[in-house]
Amino acid sequence: MYLLSENARELIAQEERFGARNYAPLDLVVERAHGVWLWDVSGKRYLDCVSAYSAVNQGHCHPRIQAALVDQAAKVTLTSRAMRNDRLPAFLAELTRVAGYEKALPTNTGVEAVETAIKLARRWGYVTKGIPADRAEIIVFSNNFHGRTLAAISASSTAQYRAHFGPFVPGFRVVPFGDAAAVENAITPHTCAVLVEPIQGEGGVNVPPDGYLRRLWALCREHDVLLVADEIQTGLGRTGDLFACDYDGIKPDVLLLGKALGGGYYPVSATLAAGPLMDLLQPGDHGSTFGGNPLACAVALAALDVVISEDLPARARTAGAAILRQLRAAPSPLIREVRGRGLLIGIELTVPATQLSAALLERGVAAKDTQERVLRLAPPLTIDDAEIAYLLERFHGALASLAPQP
Ligand SMILES: *Cc1c(COP(=O)(O)O)cnc(C)c1O
Repeated sequence: MYLLSENARELIAQEERFGARNYAPLDLVVERAHGVWLWDVSGKRYLDCVSAYSAVNQGHCHPRIQAALVDQAAKVTLTSRAMRNDRLPAFLAELTRVAGYEKALPTNTGVEAVETAIKLARRWGYVTKGIPADRAEIIVFSNNFHGRTLAAISASSTAQYRAHFGPFVPGFRVVPFGDAAAVENAITPHTCAVLVEPIQGEGGVNVPPDGYLRRLWALCREHDVLLVADEIQTGLGRTGDLFACDYDGIKPDVLLLGKALGGGYYPVSATLAAGPLMDLLQPGDHGSTFGGNPLACAVALAALDVVISEDLPARARTAGAAILRQLRAAPSPLIREVRGRGLLIGIELTVPATQLSAALLERGVAAKDTQERVLRLAPPLTIDDAEIAYLLERFHGALASLAPQP
């Protein structure tokens, strides 16, 4: 049994009493963190395989990102876009250079980038493609996750995300993920965009067949439709490439980033596109009070620099391949499938994933279920070989504790 300290129990009770219960967190009250490690309020150490849903690809409390935050916090932190600030130009220049786009629109949370892309794609559909007013359609995928706003849940196929939240935003068509023919059949003259996660994260770490994104990209070209890639979770090294789309050698018309763009310190998201497309948004058309603030820009510049200068995509590729290989080499009756790319790994079980996450927590590994029977392993990309060995040893111990006794 996993025993909580008195202190942890009190903190959990207080949170449950005064907080909305819209999450079911692990029984782990974190007090501090460094690199891949978390420490709870009684000083026990855990290897973090959640990474705040890939928002801390760079590892917790990275000293360079921390320094950027502290330096900027003493100068100026928020101006709003009513005026300019001296950090935004450098951030936009570096982000567009690194990602290979002409222009970027800065926001805060991931779902704001999704909303930006939906508005941009609809605007393009009406102004450039000539779709009749209010008829634009966006193709999305079963088991997608694009966030929690009304537009994002309107695009969702997950019953719980939608239940009793209607009426929904119209104009989304859901097709099965991984089936290019379904997309082709769903495209109409009113389709303005295909919105896709290159690998579905929350949906259960679903990796599409090789060449699928290339096929979607070709279909979009052929039918004059924008391809929008939601790389909020897969981007910035997580899957072993800087962007998961790089694996397929494609460059979507619109790229969405978030999570690790803030280096675990600050919410930073962005929508990237070609100049003529982005210029369809003019002053007053769209915005955010905090978007592009100097603190966010300073943090994001450092967060990007760490991903590139420490070559985290390469580390994710090597470390992820090692973990996948070792997991696949040790089959268990409790494991149905091990899938993923880089350090975005999903383990589909024959038992509820919460059972395995509880057994892992007892052994000093924090990992969370996504979908009922899928456990996600997504440690910070800085994980070293000794930490991988620790993870696998604890994983096999946890699995053995659940295995039916002969
Ligand atoms: C997390 C996530 C989002 C939403 O990001 P928030 O910062 O929670 O708004 C959108 N898309 C994908 C693929 C995500 O993983």
